[in-house]
Amino acid sequence: MAAKRKHPKVIWNSAINQWFCTKCGQVSDRVSEQDGHLELDQYECQIPYVETSAIASDEETVQS
Ligand SMILES: [Zn+2]
Repeated sequence: MAAKRKHPKVIWNSAINQWFCTKCGQVSDRVSEQDGHLELDQYECQIPYVETSAIASDEETVQS
């Protein structure tokens, strides 16, 4: 119970038979909830679109 989970809200999506994080949208096809959480926890809970725009704006401000 002490382990921190990176993905605060992971639900079972019965339409695709995968565990699904409602925050970042990443999925795991593991059957058990515990395995699904373990797989998702290998990745940071972040939204891909936000990450992409952050990288783009970083490159604009790089000074050489
Ligand atoms: Zn997540």
